[in-house]
Amino acid sequence: MGIEAQIEGLEQLVAVDAQLKVLRDELAKERNEIEAIATEKQRLEGQLAIDRASLIEMDKTRGELTQDHRHLGQQLDRSRERLSRARTERESQAAERELDELRKLHRDREIEVSKLVTLCDEARNTILNHETRIAELATRLDTSSPDAQGRMASLEADIAEKMAGRRQIGAKVGGLTVRRYDSMHARGKVPVARTTEGTCLGCYVQLPPMLFHSLLSRTQLGECPTCHRILYYSPPAAAATPDAEPLDASSTDA
Ligand SMILES: [Zn+2]
Repeated sequence: MGIEAQIEGLEQLVAVDAQLKVLRDELAKERNEIEAIATEKQRLEGQLAIDRASLIEMDKTRGELTQDHRHLGQQLDRSRERLSRARTERESQAAERELDELRKLHRDREIEVSKLVTLCDEARNTILNHETRIAELATRLDTSSPDAQGRMASLEADIAEKMAGRRQIGAKVGGLTVRRYDSMHARGKVPVARTTEGTCLGCYVQLPPMLFHSLLSRTQLGECPTCHRILYYSPPAAAATPDAEPLDASSTDA
């Protein structure tokens, strides 16, 4: 394996890893979107169950209070009757007191019932809103899921294809260098750096002159003492050509 082919392989590895990162990010984004919808739906379903249970409870209490209110109304009628039949001052005062107390209880119950009616209405509205939202999310999952599944399958196929290509490049570059590359890549670094004028273009630290000199002939790869990237010499012209040449050509053609 010649050094030139090895350098070319390393450049290809960097390029294919950059493409793989884009594809994997897209795949993660697709997955996250689907998951976010499913999670929100699940959360609302949980909330809906709680709201329904609490509505049943409030409806029951409201029923009891309404009955109590009716019952107090009947007591009020009887109390009024007693007052009308009172013969002595003492009897009439006692009946008045009882009537006052009952009136207050009757009124309190009425306020409680009306508060609960409002609360029940609000709960019913919330339940309706949640049901609507859950139905929307279910539709979104049903309709967007096949599209998203399709996109994810195609991304997975692209990734598999790139990975196969990557393995071939890796085999070309050779065992030890590939292992160094992979271990740095696994730590989230771009494992390769060029140097053109004696500076590592990965970390921009000046290289020891002896090291730079040993790389100039392109007979061996080096390692940057600062960032530990795999290092190789790239002549200034060669570094500029890939981007500059096709542009110049097309501008003179036009
Ligand atoms: Zn460096």
